[in-house]
Amino acid sequence: MKLLWAESIANPGGIVSDLEQLAHLCDEVKVPLVVDNTAATPYLCRPFEHGASLVVHSTTKYLSGHGNAMGGCVVDSGLFDWSCGGDVEKFPSLAMPEPAYHGITFFETFGDLAFTTFAHAVGLRDLGPTMAPQNAFYTINGIETLSLRMERHCSNAQAVAEFLEQHPKVSLMNQY
Ligand SMILES: *Cc1c(COP(=O)(O)O)cnc(C)c1O
Repeated sequence: MKLLWAESIANPGGIVSDLEQLAHLCDEVKVPLVVDNTAATPYLCRPFEHGASLVVHSTTKYLSGHGNAMGGCVVDSGLFDWSCGGDVEKFPSLAMPEPAYHGITFFETFGDLAFTTFAHAVGLRDLGPTMAPQNAFYTINGIETLSLRMERHCSNAQAVAEFLEQHPKVSLMNQY
């Protein structure tokens, strides 16, 4: 097992993950907890505070917020021990010498920036995909109003939920 992947709020089911429990499980087996925080956004959930090692987002949705830019991001807590207490073969790209980069060991050389540096090096240099500057501009601009938009999303959702709750043709169903 290399990692455990969870969504903080699952899309589309809306199931809320118990991140703390999952983080404890990950600690036991020494794998990173990777949390897709797209639906909650950092406004509603900060997975690092519940033990996540890496957080990913589709920035296409709430973060950019205007349906004008596609993108994604990876945020590294810098806290995961990629050498797994000496078991360097578990994550060889990070914990063992990398021939494509003059034999450096990313974790040894970059420490808490190992994953980020590796993701830049391999993602940008080796694989190539990078965000278009215009999309980056839209995304950064959009993020400035995240808190205002999320506040409104939440109050709208609350109003809809309260309307449906008292509607005679709607009954509550416990799906899970
Ligand atoms: C939409 C979505 C994605 C994928 O995002 P794209 O920007 O369309 O690639 C990933 N995770 C979750 C939870 C999503 O809702």
